Amino acid sequence: MSSSVIDLLATEARFGANNYAPIGVVLSRGEGVWVWDTEGNRYLDCLSAYSAVSQGHCHPKILAAMVEQAHRLTLTSRAFHNDQLALFYQEIAALTGSHKVLPMNSGAEAVESAIKSVRKWGYEVKGVPDGQAEIIVCADNFHGRTLGVVGFSTDAETRGHFGPFAPGFRIIPFGDAAALDAAITPNTVAFLVEPIQGEAGVIIPPAGYFTEVRELCTANNVMLVLDEIQTGLGRTGKLLAEQHEGIEADVTLLGKALSGGFYPVSAVLSNNDVLGTLRPGQHGSTFGGNPLACAVARAAMRVLVEEGMIENAATQGARFLQGLKDIRANTIRDVRGRGLMLAVELHPEAGRARRYCEALQGKGILAKDTHEHTIRIAPPLVITSDQVDWALEQFATILTQDFS
Ligand SMILES: *Cc1c(COP(=O)(O)O)cnc(C)c1O
Repeated sequence: MSSSVIDLLATEARFGANNYAPIGVVLSRGEGVWVWDTEGNRYLDCLSAYSAVSQGHCHPKILAAMVEQAHRLTLTSRAFHNDQLALFYQEIAALTGSHKVLPMNSGAEAVESAIKSVRKWGYEVKGVPDGQAEIIVCADNFHGRTLGVVGFSTDAETRGHFGPFAPGFRIIPFGDAAALDAAITPNTVAFLVEPIQGEAGVIIPPAGYFTEVRELCTANNVMLVLDEIQTGLGRTGKLLAEQHEGIEADVTLLGKALSGGFYPVSAVLSNNDVLGTLRPGQHGSTFGGNPLACAVARAAMRVLVEEGMIENAATQGARFLQGLKDIRANTIRDVRGRGLMLAVELHPEAGRARRYCEALQGKGILAKDTHEHTIRIAPPLVITSDQVDWALEQFATILTQDFS
């Protein structure tokens, strides 16, 4: 490492809150699936900023839309209308088949907004007694970092010493429809769940789970809220992960790739009932729905469809998954994934996944460990067959070594 890189790392360590432990690479440029560090080394990005950069780094059409809009108008607040918001609503509703849209900024804000909305729906439409609304969530969930959200996390690091937390949440195991059935009461307003648990290590529920979940929610007048902030917008090889089971959520949360990585944009999508309960003054955000965000999101959705990225995620995801399964290595305990949301789980004796990610960096691959023993792989959806094959060669080299 050059002295200037060492200076940057030291400056970060000195002034920054120490809430991350990044891999030791300082990036300064990106294009498509590639990123470059300050010393000119090139890496294939197998994290895509946790799926926010699905369209590839610095996509030229999203960039052009952002620059063009930034020259015209960036922020009006919702005190006034702007000429991008209606078009954003129209296009996201057409893409996803939703009736109503609430624009926010970060993913966690979308989750918070959904919680507020389904509670309000519960009191005003379902008839739950005031203050009694219950929301069911899953163990090992990840829905963001705000106080409301970490309060129903089951991860000790995420919750530890941040309480007291808001009541009104019940936690059940993920992938267990009988547990949902047992947890529903007359006061249950919603079931909030990820279609595939990403941060937990790309945990895919048993086939048929979401069909049963949908039936239980419908039968009990419980809103099914799918957090598709990571799985949505093509990541799993379909526009929305719910389509793998042919179901429709009542409320869908999008974020991350909604801006192609240019700017924080999130959205709550719902049927008429849930978002229809919000009245002027009851919820808001200074930046939510601003013209710059809308222009960026419109371009991000357009290139996803026009450039065939969703189909590419299905094709290259299948190729990547098969290639990983074909690697014969004693270190590997399990390989799983859907579309380009993939994971390699290592045997505990093989050593920590972090060591493998550091070794992969030396081979020109940036990937991220999760939960000690799992390497998560989520490249931009624009990856080509040749790039997948090259990546597989690097994975094969590293996974057949022992870093215990
Ligand atoms: C990333 C993520 C969030 C939180 O998004 P932020 O933009 O970081 O607030 C919520 N839910 C899921 C499933 C996520 O992957």
